[in-house]
Amino acid sequence: MVSRAILLVPLCFCLTSPTFAQSDGEPDREISNISGDLYRFRQVRHSGMFLVTDEGIIVVDPTFPHVASWLKEELDERFGLPVKYVIYSHTHLDHAGGGEVFADTATFIAHENTRKNLQRPADDAPLLPREQLWDVNDDGLIQESEAGGYIGVDRGEGAFAQFDTDASGSLTRAEIWAARFGGPTVRPPDIYYSEKASILLGGKTVELHYTGRNHSDDMTVVFFPEERTIYTADFLTPNRPARTVLDGGFLPEWVESLQQVEKLDFDIIVPAHESPGTKAQVVEQTRYLEELYEAVSKGIAAGKTVDELVDTILMEDYSHLIEYEFSRAKNVIGAYEILMSTPGEH
Ligand SMILES: [Zn+2]
Repeated sequence: MVSRAILLVPLCFCLTSPTFAQSDGEPDREISNISGDLYRFRQVRHSGMFLVTDEGIIVVDPTFPHVASWLKEELDERFGLPVKYVIYSHTHLDHAGGGEVFADTATFIAHENTRKNLQRPADDAPLLPREQLWDVNDDGLIQESEAGGYIGVDRGEGAFAQFDTDASGSLTRAEIWAARFGGPTVRPPDIYYSEKASILLGGKTVELHYTGRNHSDDMTVVFFPEERTIYTADFLTPNRPARTVLDGGFLPEWVESLQQVEKLDFDIIVPAHESPGTKAQVVEQTRYLEELYEAVSKGIAAGKTVDELVDTILMEDYSHLIEYEFSRAKNVIGAYEILMSTPGEH
C-alpha cells in the first residue's frame, strides 16, 4: 500500500502541471493569510485552505498524504486547535488524498457523487464512452499506442506504466480509475450532501455549493461568506485555461457550472492550482470555455475533423493566460472528445 501511494505522487504532479513553473525563491510549501481567519496552504502547485474558529479548524482539500501531515504539524504549532471538518472539493486523489491524519477529530464531507466515484469499477467494467474513442483496436482496453493526452504522451517517461499497475501492457477501466480516484490515500467522507450544505463552527459559516458537472461530477465550490472568498479546484482556475483533455469533463454543463459560480457573492477566488484571483477572472474563464465549446460544436456540426479544428480554433484573445500554448490544441481535442462521446447533448 505504501509503495503504491509513493508511486502516485509524481504522477499526480504531472496530471496538473507540465512543468514546475515556480518563480525563483518561492518556497515549496507555505501558508498565507487570505482574509481574517481564512488561510491558503500550498505545496508547489497544489493548494488547499483552512478556516480557524474558536472551536476548531475546517480544512478544505488535504491534497496529498505528505502535505496533510505537514499541515497538521503546522496547525498544531500555530493554533493548538483540532481539525473538526475536512471538505473535499472532489475525489481526485491529488486533492482529496491524505485526510486520514485528521480522522481522529474531524468529520469528512463531500458531494454525494463522491460515493460512487470512490468505488473501484469491476475488473471487466467497460471503458467510458470517451475512452472508447481511443480504443482503436476495439478490444475494450487501452494500449500505450492508443493512450492520448489524458493518459499517455503528455505524462512523460513511464507515465503509462504508472497507470498499468499489473504491467499487462493494457489498461482496464479500473486501472484508469485507480490513477485518479482510487488508492488508499482518500479517506471516505462521513457526510454526503446533494445541492448545498453549510457548516457552522465557532460562530463561523462555510457553505458547500454543488454547481453541476464540470471537470468532474462531484465538484464542490467552497464559499466563505464572511471572507467573501470561494475555493475552486480544477474546473475553475483564474488566469489559466481549463484543461479539457487532461482532466476529462462534461460539456456544455461545465459552462453552466461556471455561470452558477458567477452568481455567488464573492470578491476573492482561491484556486487549487496557481495564484488567487478576482471575480473578473472567473468571468473570463466562463467566456473562454463557452467560446471553446461553441467553436468545437460548430466544427463538429460542419463535419470538420479534429485536426482541422486544432488548426483553426486559436482562441487568441486568451493568449495571455498561463500555459495558453500548452492548453490550446489539447483543449480543442478534449472538447471534441467530450462532445463526440456524448451524442445528442450538444
Ligand atoms: Zn481533479
